[in-house]
Amino acid sequence: MRDHSRGSPVLAAMGALTDLVLPRECGGCLRAGSSWCARCRRALATLSFGPATGNTGGGPWVVPHPVPAGLPSVHAWGVYADPLRAVVSAWKDVGRRDLVGVLAPLLTASVSGAVAGAGWGDGVVLVVPAPSSGRAVRARGDTPIVALCEASLEQLADRAGPALRVAPALRHVRRVADQSGLGTGERRGNLSDAVAVKPLWRNAIRDRRCVLVDDVVTTGATLAEAARALREAGARGVVAATIAATQRTRG
Ligand SMILES: [Zn+2]
Repeated sequence: MRDHSRGSPVLAAMGALTDLVLPRECGGCLRAGSSWCARCRRALATLSFGPATGNTGGGPWVVPHPVPAGLPSVHAWGVYADPLRAVVSAWKDVGRRDLVGVLAPLLTASVSGAVAGAGWGDGVVLVVPAPSSGRAVRARGDTPIVALCEASLEQLADRAGPALRVAPALRHVRRVADQSGLGTGERRGNLSDAVAVKPLWRNAIRDRRCVLVDDVVTTGATLAEAARALREAGARGVVAATIAATQRTRG
């Protein structure tokens, strides 16, 4: 923290504000100095599933094992390991929303890989964030995955291909436990019929192609349940894109 006590009160206030807006601590390793350090930037590049250079394909399809029934094809940018794990957690759980700039390019690559992999070359494709639980939204005061999707689509705005629109169309229809403490079978039971398309989005989803987006795919239970809700609402095709995957069983 800088010393704001000397000099003009206006400058001091601006300095304090800058500290709020731009935390001077790395989102990957917590080292002081910058919000995303050069060391973490280099380490992140090694986690990509795709080629080390010129990776515009967004990495390969990943398949969790066992595959949950109804899991759509999932594209992931890279492996869920530090510093990516740390930066996702700092962004989502610790409120470091400034790190959206680190994560958006990864999601951008994954979404565009999923769209290309599905062979969707034109028309409109909806980008549907996985639903956050009501509790999580209340605790955080916002839905970071929606903002991340919007930041990613901005980066894709000038590219060829289908028009992509963020559609926060899904919600939980009953309470679910935090998935992270549960095993594979428990996760599936916890989420069974837990997600639905919001009534206002029903018409928009019907006959549409959708890319489901989540930060991390672990067992695939969340994406399978969200895909079920979209298909039930009449979605014509569903694929998924995530920043990271905890495992990869197919290249
Ligand atoms: Zn770092």
